[in-house]
Amino acid sequence: MHCLLRQHSVVFLELFLVLVLGGIAMHVSDPDVPSSLDALRLEGNLSFHDVSLAAKDFGNRFRFLPSAILHPVSVSDIAVIIKHVFQMGPSSKLTVAARGHGHSLQGQAQADGGVVIHMESLRGGGTRVHAGERPYVDASGGELWINVLLECLKHGLAPKSWTDYLHLTIGGTLSNAGISGQAFRHGPQISNVHQLEIVTGKGELLTCSTEENAALFHAALGGLGQFGVITGARIALEPAPEMVKWIRVLYSDFSSFTEDQEMLISARETFDYIEGFVIINRTGLLNNWRSSFNPQDPVQASRFDSDGRILFCLEMTKNFNRDEADVMHQRVEALLSRLRYIPSTLFQSEVTYLEFLDRVHVSEVKLRSKGLWEVPHPWLNLLIPRTRIKDFAEEVFGKILTDSNNGPILLYPLHRSKWDNRTSAVIPDEEVFYLVAFLSSAPSSSDHDNLERALKQNDKILDFCNKAGIQMKQYLPHYTTQEEWKAHFGDRWELFAHRKGIYDPLSILAPGQRIFRKVVRSSRR
Ligand code: FAD
Repeated sequence: MHCLLRQHSVVFLELFLVLVLGGIAMHVSDPDVPSSLDALRLEGNLSFHDVSLAAKDFGNRFRFLPSAILHPVSVSDIAVIIKHVFQMGPSSKLTVAARGHGHSLQGQAQADGGVVIHMESLRGGGTRVHAGERPYVDASGGELWINVLLECLKHGLAPKSWTDYLHLTIGGTLSNAGISGQAFRHGPQISNVHQLEIVTGKGELLTCSTEENAALFHAALGGLGQFGVITGARIALEPAPEMVKWIRVLYSDFSSFTEDQEMLISARETFDYIEGFVIINRTGLLNNWRSSFNPQDPVQASRFDSDGRILFCLEMTKNFNRDEADVMHQRVEALLSRLRYIPSTLFQSEVTYLEFLDRVHVSEVKLRSKGLWEVPHPWLNLLIPRTRIKDFAEEVFGKILTDSNNGPILLYPLHRSKWDNRTSAVIPDEEVFYLVAFLSSAPSSSDHDNLERALKQNDKILDFCNKAGIQMKQYLPHYTTQEEWKAHFGDRWELFAHRKGIYDPLSILAPGQRIFRKVVRSSRR
């Protein structure tokens, strides 16, 4: 008997070490949860086993096991579950998280011991394109952007604003902002939505727009999933171009690079997509580009040597239809003649619009085949005001970061006036600000401390911003205390908290963001 007990405690200890020290938060489930949920009438189904998938995300660092996963077939399934949890009141610990494609970085789509809604189950064939003078598409909140694009292209149309990677859900990116190289002109994805359909934290299904339930509409856009589950969205479309001229050039002078970027995002006649990235201590870069880009001057390009300098790549595209190629070439020539890049580093390519927009998926396939996709991703995304970008660059590139071999570092400017300040998204106060994205991968290697090193670098960058008084904002923010969240929202915190009280008064939704905590009161007296 003693021996058996000892064996049990050893097994328990081992399980504890594997689960807790290995990064998976062990949750002791409430035994009443399955029976209470199981009794609900649903068109879809609830799964109480195989829940580990919902305790994983792209960041690959945080793991919180839910009690159940809902695979909804209809919007009503989502409303039924949330209403049930709401009606259980504060005596129940249950929370609910919508999971889009699970591409969060720090457990934002997870619910420790709660119910995770697998939003992709909802998508089934609901994408409807409306052509006409102001074209738009109605799509499910669980639909992937790539599928929305494919459907729209059948009608010669496409959404206007993108993320660099399209295998993300509508509800997931609209809960953040959705930023890419088109945002300087069209604003982020949240600036291109006409209407949302939302199930609030009380289980009510509401349609909202700037005209109807406007407070909920604005709260949910960039709202980090706090106010309701986005079950449907109406998204603005434009005619889709057939082709894209895709251009990369290099700079070694940071000021010339950013001045050219800023000139381009403010010019009337300009490119259709403008981004940039930072290259530190990387060899063979131009050779890598040759697989998909052609150098304008192959001889000069082959002689180019970075000489150990930090380089800045300006990346842009011009959209065109095949019958307008000549005009497009003239416009591109005129634009390039205004830029101060290193002449031997002009690389160009022509691809279809779909190939361009879905470009990151090509890298995903390659990385997956090498086992390098499902590794920890200690990403850090910052929005830096224009007046401090030079100070930031001088300290971070070359001093804190001595190479960019662990993943791309994006750096490009955006216009504040293209963002709607009634939404929940938080951005710096200046008209021009930069997205700086450190997109590191940390595969385990023989020295094992890639992740640790990347996290320390992130801390140093944040620490520097703090000490230097740079009024930056985190994008895809991650904080662990409400004080930090209050500082993030600044004078918008009160409105954010007020709206939370209206639409999710028990703090049931998106607990993985760690902004509000459900207050649980014992029902026994
Ligand atoms: P999830 O990670 O599943 O969810 C994100 C949050 O939203 C969670 O809190 C979740 O509970 C909530 N949520 C999910 N669905 C809903 C819903 N329907 N209603 C309400 N709340 C919901 N972002 C950019 O802006 N620009 C980029 O270029 C970009 N590139 C990326 C490239 C890669 C490879 C990856 C992994 C991410 C990238 N992102 C980019 C970040 C991305 O926008 C966010 O991680 C986004 O949250 C991912 O969407 P998802 O569908 O996986 O959401």
